[in-house]
Amino acid sequence: MANEKLGPGVDASARTRIRRHPERSTPELAEELLRAGRVAHVAFVAAGQPYVLPFTYHYDAGKLYIHGAPASRTLRTLQPGTPVCAEITLLDGLVASRDAKSHSVNYRSVVIFGEAVEVTDLDEKRLVFEAMTRRYFSGRAAGREYAPARDGDLRAVTLLAIAIEELSAKTRAGPALGPRDGDEAAAGTSFVLLLPGLDA
Ligand SMILES: Cc1cc2nc3c(=O)[nH]c(=O)nc-3n(C[C@H](O)[C@H](O)[C@H](O)COP(=O)(O)OP(=O)(O)OC[C@H]3O[C@@H](n4cnc5c(N)ncnc54)[C@H](O)[C@@H]3O)c2cc1C
Repeated sequence: MANEKLGPGVDASARTRIRRHPERSTPELAEELLRAGRVAHVAFVAAGQPYVLPFTYHYDAGKLYIHGAPASRTLRTLQPGTPVCAEITLLDGLVASRDAKSHSVNYRSVVIFGEAVEVTDLDEKRLVFEAMTRRYFSGRAAGREYAPARDGDLRAVTLLAIAIEELSAKTRAGPALGPRDGDEAAAGTSFVLLLPGLDA
C-alpha cells in the first residue's frame, strides 16, 4: 500500500484527517490491524440511501477483499465508480473511571476508502480464498485439512477487491484519564478490563 503519504498526521486528506485526539492517529499500524481484524463494516450509498453491512474479509497488498452470493445487493452495488468506505475495529479493553464522563474503551480501528472491482480470474480467486481461510483458521490448508474449492464453487461466488485509496487508523490505549483516576486515595475505582478475546 502506498502508505508513505499517510505517516502520522502527514498529508491525510480532509476525509481521513483525525480531528478528535489527533495524537491517537496510528496509520503505521493500519496494515497490522487490517491483517488482524475479522469483520469489516462496509458502507456505501445506493439511490441516496446510506447502508452499512458486516462482512468477513481478507486483506492483502493494499486491497480489501469481500465476497458473497452474486445476488447480494451490496456486491452488485459496489461496481467501479461507486465509492465505498469500510471500517474494522479491534476492541481491546473496557476502561472504567472514577468519574462518569471518563469511562472509555481501548481500541484499534481503521477506516478505508476506495473502489471495488470484481475478481473473475479463478486462480486469483482461489489464492485469495485459500489465504483468507488460513487467516481465519490458522494453519488450515487446502488439500490437507479440507478439500480444495472446485472451479464451479469459485464461479458461484462473487469476489470483490476494494483497492484502498486512502485510510486512517486510530488507537486508544491505557488507563482512564479522568481528573481523579491517577489518585489512588480518591473515591470510586478505576481499571482497564482487557478483552483479549478473538481480536487479540
Ligand atoms: C459477522 C458477519 C460476517 C458476514 N460475512 C459475510 C460475507 O463474507 N459475505 C456475505 O455475503 N455476507 C456476509 N454476512 C451477511 C451480510 O451482512 C449480508 O446480510 C448479506 O451479504 C446480504 O447482503 P445484501 O447486500 O444482499 O443485503 P440485503 O439483503 O439487500 O440487505 C437489505 C437490508 O437487510 C438488512 N440486513 C442485511 N444484512 C444484515 C445484517 N447482517 N444484519 C442486520 N441487518 C441486515 C439491512 O437493513 C439491509 O439494508 C455477514 C454477516 C455478519 C454478521
